[in-house]
Amino acid sequence: MRTIGILGGMSWESTAIYYQHLNHMVRDARGGLHSAPVIIDSVNFAQMAVWQRAGDWHSAGEFLAQKAQCLQAAGCQAIAIATNTMHKVYDAIQSQIDIPVIHIADAVCDEASQRGISRVLFLGTQFSMTDDFLRERYAQRNIDWQIPNADDRDLVHAMIFERLCQGEVRDADKAALLAIIERCVEDSVVRGVAAPQAVVLGCTELVLLLSEDAPCVLPILDSTRIHAQALAAFVLTKGTH
Ligand code: GLU
Repeated sequence: MRTIGILGGMSWESTAIYYQHLNHMVRDARGGLHSAPVIIDSVNFAQMAVWQRAGDWHSAGEFLAQKAQCLQAAGCQAIAIATNTMHKVYDAIQSQIDIPVIHIADAVCDEASQRGISRVLFLGTQFSMTDDFLRERYAQRNIDWQIPNADDRDLVHAMIFERLCQGEVRDADKAALLAIIERCVEDSVVRGVAAPQAVVLGCTELVLLLSEDAPCVLPILDSTRIHAQALAAFVLTKGTH
């Protein structure tokens, strides 16, 4: 098997889910005592959040690129950034290493396309929803997206940073998230635009609130599970890297 390097800790609440997924997927594929060869560099998320709020993506990118170089030197054959938001510095990281960085948006778009989905509702941090770095990547893969209105974006962002990344999972947030999804579907009907065919949990902690099998007006695509699946596929495939 090949070894994967994970840039984690953003937040560690979701990195723990990645680690479980990877090991479950490798055990399902190989059975017995098999587990995933993985090296996790779990950073202090408080520092990352300071850079995010200050808009200092350059420092964040340099910091993570250095970590990725260490993971490469330690023998990893591919890297994963275990957060949607920090894919904003994907290029800064990929340009400093020779091994591939497996992009979370590519994995989600591949699964959406396989399922015949070409328009999604995307939920994530303000950075992910309103900057272009993920939307453009989705568009390149022929997946259109819709995001909630400004008030609902604030609500989702607050859930992520004030609660989920701090390990707090509230029933009220789950209900609010489902209501936001319903409002977005209704809104597309009112505006006469194409309705989304699925909702992407485009933040790796959102699955703590809503699992993919939860009753919802739209099918749910969990970016954490889908990204982990792409990483497991890499680990399980023999290659020259
Ligand atoms: N894990 C989250 C994401 O997938 C948010 C934390 C972060 O800003 O990295 O976007």
